[in-house]
Amino acid sequence: MPKPAAVLAVLGLLLATATARAADTAAIFAAADEPSARAAWQAMWGTAPVSVAEVEGVRAVRMPCNFRGTRIERASWDRAVQLDLSACRGVQFKVFCRDASPVAHFRLFFQSGDGWYAAAFSPAEKGKWCTVAIDKDEMRIEDKPAGWSAIKTIRISAWRGSDADTEFYVADFALTGQGARIAIIRGESAARNAPSEVESVVQLTGGIARNLRDLGLEYTVINDLDLSAARLKKYALVILPHNPAMPDAAAEEIAKFVEGGGKVIAFYELHGRLRDVLGLTGGGHVTQKFPGQFASIRFAKDALPGAPPEVGQASWNITDLRPVEGKSRVAAEWFDKDGKDTGYPAVIVSDGGIYVSHVLLSDDAANKRRMLLAMAGAFLPEAWKQAAEASLAAVGRIGPYRDYQEAHLAMTRAANPTAAGTLAAATKRRAEAQGLLGAGKFPESIAAAEDAQRLMTEAYCKSQTPVPGEFRAIWCHSAFGPSGMTWDEAIKALADNGFTAVLPNMLWAGAAYYESSVLPVAPEVRQKGDQIAACLAACKTHGLECHVWKVNWNMGGRTPREFAERMKNEGRTQAGFNGKPLAAWLCPSHPENQKLEIDSMVEVATKYDVDGIHFDYIRYPDEEHCYCAGCRERFEKAVGVKVANWPADLRKDDGLRAKWLDFRRDNITRVVAAVSEAVRKARPKVKISAAVFSNWATDRDKVGQDWKLWCQRGYLDFVCPMDYTPSTAAYENLAAMQLPLAGKVPCYPGIGLSTWQPPTDAPKVIEQILAARRAGCKGFTIFELNSATVREVLPLLGKGITRTDVQSSK
Ligand SMILES: [Zn+2]
Repeated sequence: MPKPAAVLAVLGLLLATATARAADTAAIFAAADEPSARAAWQAMWGTAPVSVAEVEGVRAVRMPCNFRGTRIERASWDRAVQLDLSACRGVQFKVFCRDASPVAHFRLFFQSGDGWYAAAFSPAEKGKWCTVAIDKDEMRIEDKPAGWSAIKTIRISAWRGSDADTEFYVADFALTGQGARIAIIRGESAARNAPSEVESVVQLTGGIARNLRDLGLEYTVINDLDLSAARLKKYALVILPHNPAMPDAAAEEIAKFVEGGGKVIAFYELHGRLRDVLGLTGGGHVTQKFPGQFASIRFAKDALPGAPPEVGQASWNITDLRPVEGKSRVAAEWFDKDGKDTGYPAVIVSDGGIYVSHVLLSDDAANKRRMLLAMAGAFLPEAWKQAAEASLAAVGRIGPYRDYQEAHLAMTRAANPTAAGTLAAATKRRAEAQGLLGAGKFPESIAAAEDAQRLMTEAYCKSQTPVPGEFRAIWCHSAFGPSGMTWDEAIKALADNGFTAVLPNMLWAGAAYYESSVLPVAPEVRQKGDQIAACLAACKTHGLECHVWKVNWNMGGRTPREFAERMKNEGRTQAGFNGKPLAAWLCPSHPENQKLEIDSMVEVATKYDVDGIHFDYIRYPDEEHCYCAGCRERFEKAVGVKVANWPADLRKDDGLRAKWLDFRRDNITRVVAAVSEAVRKARPKVKISAAVFSNWATDRDKVGQDWKLWCQRGYLDFVCPMDYTPSTAAYENLAAMQLPLAGKVPCYPGIGLSTWQPPTDAPKVIEQILAARRAGCKGFTIFELNSATVREVLPLLGKGITRTDVQSSK
């Protein structure tokens, strides 16, 4: 609790900045003098206080990260505010940091009601003012926030990455997207009414927002808890991406908006009041009768001007709403995978808006975007022109380049002969897009601009240079390889495009996708055969290394029920600090569980001619586990003390806490050490590696994963920290932080394709490969190998950054 004096000071400031209108939000990241800045920004949990400074002509708040010699997990400051963020797209601010290397990651939080909105950010360049823009749809929901209209705290946190001090500065806080005519309604009431839907609400709202961004259409995100007809007045169009269990009050406000002339585009579940307003009837839930029943949306001719004739979407269920004669009409129907009309409406148009009978999935992205544009364009005539201008402006925005001029200049200077022809074709097509835009032919201009961007991207990929001898690995999460292809086809694609290793996930804590005599064998192995054998054969044919990946401790959903039950009954599964069982995870301190982990990995290394074995989940799930009865018994025995109040005392007594953290680490390390020892003896050439969390400094306590020690002691032959982030600066920072921890052991940091949209964005992968090289890594590991990666990413990497011709000539 802050002291009363501090509270008064904060209150004084609050009164001064009371309601944060656009004009005075800038004051939030600035202060007149040091005392008021310190009073406003409460330093949390042992963090050093802020100060006021001027950096390169910008007046800013200085945030010191006092990690050296301290134990703080993060430097963190809270500022009490009264902010209404209900009518903006998001926020932006400036950040300056000379050396972000001691920081594992930065986060911005907004507190509202009993919950938080949270997003990561990172300074894109060292020693320069960088603008950070965070859109509301990208912010995670933690607990139960009460909406964007009542933000009461801003929190900025920088997590410890190493034992060194640094500092960063923030300035110029502002709201974005305030002139928008489109409002997306995010169904945050789901956190209360339908908690299992929260993830999909966030994801689907984000999907619509991303499409609008790509189309260059400005929008606001409004929480359904903040809805009022008055608040909606300034908008012409409201989009409901996925709003399950919408509160009656919210539906009523949207209904009033439509009755007052506003328009709605609604997906999937629709509140009864809105069905009436849009002139729809029925609404039963229809699940597909066979896979592929709902495969595409086909528009009737001229039913929606500018819509593509067919849009692919593999839906598994729909809501069966029907038009009402005289009020609405079907514009598109669902067709199945064989091209047969199912008779179910996919898109219904009325005077009040447009209804789509399932959510907007991310497949067939280009046609989806076009369909959404046609829908928005039906109500906002300016949308087509804006989208055409945005498509043209996006040509050349690839990798590090901000626009066409920058990209063209850089690629021309690189004078790569294979890229030159493609670049010329891109330039020609871009000129055509310009001409079409001038002539008011918007759809044609968009098509030409999209072609130009595709060609520019190809030229960019072709202009990259491979580094011979690099370790280029990829994880494959499915034991059966990418869907729709054989192991041989997938491995050939990797080899053709210069990859050197695959890490296929062939075993879990309670399941094996090969003929195991240690673990239960998955039933699919009987039909589809031994998957290690299949993958390994393909690797031998195409010259790739095969490192078999095990998910340790975690039985996932893949373990036969009898086995999982037996583990639970024998007291071999985990329990939380709160006493709740975690039945899917084996307890790491149980000697039989350790034996099972060790034996299964040694089995793979000795039974098959693999190049390596790979640990994953080689840790506790979080700091809340494991506190089972067995852990208590074994811990008390190991340290020779009785814990009077289990488990509370482990957190109260510092000495006991330190012993407890060592005990957890030892349980994990013991397995790594034993596997390493046994495999080195039996098969000295087999490499041992691990996928590990990115922030060793805090993760060794949190999840008991001491991978620095594993490298020091020579248990590992390489290590793959999972540095999954869309920010190349953050990725490079993490890799630079990890190299010294790995020491002599090679570090091949993980690149997470699924952290950006679309995951098939090859230039983004190239940026991070270049960052790994700059940091000094001799390779990288990509997550993950699936059919989209094979189709859309590998061929573009293979054109340059991982090209094989250089390697084969050595
Ligand atoms: Zn336990």
